[in-house]
Amino acid sequence: MSIKEYFSSLFKGIYSLLKGLKVTGKELVTPKVTFQYPENRDTLEIPERFRATLRFKYDSEGYHKCIACGLCQMNCPNGTISIESKMVEMPDGKKKKKLEKYMYDLGSCTFCMLCVTSCASKAIEFSNDFEQAVFTREKLVQQLNYLPEKERPMPAPKPAVAAQKAEAPANSAATEDKKQEN
Ligand code: SF4
Ligand code: SF4
Repeated sequence: MSIKEYFSSLFKGIYSLLKGLKVTGKELVTPKVTFQYPENRDTLEIPERFRATLRFKYDSEGYHKCIACGLCQMNCPNGTISIESKMVEMPDGKKKKKLEKYMYDLGSCTFCMLCVTSCASKAIEFSNDFEQAVFTREKLVQQLNYLPEKERPMPAPKPAVAAQKAEAPANSAATEDKKQEN
């Protein structure tokens, strides 16, 4: 190797080294994109749109909006949702379908959100709570209507109906009086 070739390869090596150090130096001052998890659990921000698990929407009084119509169950492509319901008689004598159990298997959910978009009552949503790790698959099956079922107060009767009801006992009393007179 001639002296010229020796110095040429030496400068090429130094140039290559400086080029590499330039990249290293740049990354040293660039803000980090990785997180120190789980130490940063308290400050961790998960985007709202992240789909972690399905959940019921409960209002502040503990009511949910599910009417047990079964649309979400029918639209789920892999049988992740299973609904049990029953017919109950309401105080006004009408029959109504009522939710018993709303079971959701997180282990088979593909987070397609078809269930949420098909729910006309807007009763379910995806939570962004990503910490769902468990030790057995069985624990991934959850009952979403976890709060004790609350009866919604019956709507007040319309004035005309209320007046009719008030008149009815008076009329029957008058009929009784007439019968006794005869
Ligand atoms: S969550 Fe919605 S679509 Fe599913 S059963 Fe309840 S009301 Fe129907
Ligand atoms: S997100 Fe998709 S797969 Fe998961 S429960 Fe809803 S419809 Fe089923």
